[in-house]
Amino acid sequence: MNKKLENLVDNLMKGKCGLLYQYLNEIEDLIHDSLTPQKIMLHYNIQEIHKNRCKCIIHNGDNNTSLQFTNKGFKCHSCNSTGTLLEFIRLASNLKTLNDAKIYATNNFTNINLPFFDVEDYKSKTKLAIINKFEITGSYITKDYYDISLLPNGYCNFKDNKVEKSTENIIIKSDANNKVLLDQELTKLEQEEIKNMACLNILNHSIMLLVVN
Ligand SMILES: [Zn+2]
Repeated sequence: MNKKLENLVDNLMKGKCGLLYQYLNEIEDLIHDSLTPQKIMLHYNIQEIHKNRCKCIIHNGDNNTSLQFTNKGFKCHSCNSTGTLLEFIRLASNLKTLNDAKIYATNNFTNINLPFFDVEDYKSKTKLAIINKFEITGSYITKDYYDISLLPNGYCNFKDNKVEKSTENIIIKSDANNKVLLDQELTKLEQEEIKNMACLNILNHSIMLLVVN
């Protein structure tokens, strides 16, 4: 990947990741509304012994009732792990972050099907889509990639002015930096050339003086 394309992808990815986090925040209530202890126990194949009490699959203990669910969260009376139902999903599915848990919960507990399974997967698929589009269009204009979206209903940079603006700012700033760097580079090269020319002139002049004398 050339440096210019690398910069384009990096800048676009900042915006695309921002959109993902914003989207996940927006659907957080919907995710929480779709989660119940019963659905979670069914999904992880955990047998309910008493009401909302079961074996803890986080520490994998023998006590059949150490884990207790409430409508909002869980607590294990053996290993003391506690948190929201989303946090339970993160632990039970071995996911790195809460955003990964949100993606997992969306795909498994809501009607929404996201075409990626965690944040890393979202990043690599989005990056691939950008590079594929670049190979077709050859465009370095960031706006040409705003329509690329793995999020539902065309949730993309066009739709949200705030994100579009902030993405734009990052890009303008970095473009400006690149331009300054490029200008400095050119000036440096030009100065080098001028210096060389001057040296050559002095040398020529010296030779001429030598010859004349
Ligand atoms: Zn436990």
